[in-house]
Amino acid sequence: MFVVMARTAGEAEVLGVKSAILGEGLTPYDHAGVERTVIAVIGEIGSRRASLMDRLGDLPGVETVTPISRPFKLTSREFQPEDTVIRVLDAVIGDGSLTMMAGPCSVESRDQLFETADAVAAAGATVLRGGAFKPRTSPYSFQGLGVEALRYLAEARERTGLPVITEVMEPNQVDIVAEYADILQIGTRNMQNYSLLTAVGRVARPVMLKRGYGATVEEWLMAAEYIVSSGNPNVILCERGIRTFETYTRNTIDLSAVPLLHHLTHLPVIVDPSHATGKRWLVAPLAMGGVAVGADGVMVEVHPDPDAALSDAEQQLTLDQFRAMMAQLIPIHAHVRGLHDVPVETTAGVTAGGGLGRH
Ligand code: PEP
Ligand code: MN
Repeated sequence: MFVVMARTAGEAEVLGVKSAILGEGLTPYDHAGVERTVIAVIGEIGSRRASLMDRLGDLPGVETVTPISRPFKLTSREFQPEDTVIRVLDAVIGDGSLTMMAGPCSVESRDQLFETADAVAAAGATVLRGGAFKPRTSPYSFQGLGVEALRYLAEARERTGLPVITEVMEPNQVDIVAEYADILQIGTRNMQNYSLLTAVGRVARPVMLKRGYGATVEEWLMAAEYIVSSGNPNVILCERGIRTFETYTRNTIDLSAVPLLHHLTHLPVIVDPSHATGKRWLVAPLAMGGVAVGADGVMVEVHPDPDAALSDAEQQLTLDQFRAMMAQLIPIHAHVRGLHDVPVETTAGVTAGGGLGRH
């Protein structure tokens, strides 16, 4: 349940509510919004619900107490109406700007990474990606350069000024990856690895959580809830395609998830058309689609010589293709940016968010 404080409520009243919640053996999470403070009551409430709602409702400074039927709480729009904005070095994610994450699927060598990093930075990328620990379907495929790749990524950050994102696959890798990287990526295969989610919830680095390829939007948000409830509010969601019966594409990109998530959650949403389609020539059209439906950014794989890549050769863009795609995305983003904040008329005749509206 959420305790919604009156606009006039002060710190002492918020503290009073929090200690009453703690006294019940439950955990309070408060969010001081632009308009008012909301306190989420987290824990097994069970049969106490009605009496607890009454008791909290009677405390000074409380306006209303609302039961929340959705299973995700801290990630919900009800808890935090304002968009989460994540700042990492010079990149700002979720503020309406276009975040462009680009770089090779895997870091293969210092030269390969630097050549890619220089080119994507010059073309307008805002975050540099590169896999160090690779989750490969086959144990015989290239598994990544590991810590050596992390060092190259840190050097590339120095060179370009771009924050770096890379995948962490296991709880015992979290500290070393967090030492070198600016954003931690949780891959599709690990979306429901709860010990990993809890571990990244405890570090002071933003986390990008990719959608499990068999996960519903609600399961995905519950995975994000693990990270946020462990203490890390800086979570980015990444739609990277889900598995369907279609075989011409590697996965099926669910673009409806983008406006849906903007409605359900305050967290920023990125689309990854590289892993979604698996085909180089399909990346730009789906990146454009993602930006058009209001994604906060795009992640793509870029390689100086994609055909020679050690992983995901078919889907990586050439440096030229990345530059060309940027020229397509920038005007689309500039055009749709204002449109996503315009409230739309519902069938009931009430003005509300939804459709292109975010809230
Ligand atoms: C990746 O981004 O390098 C990756 C392995 O993606 P996914 O987890 O979406 O397959
Ligand atoms: Mn890849």
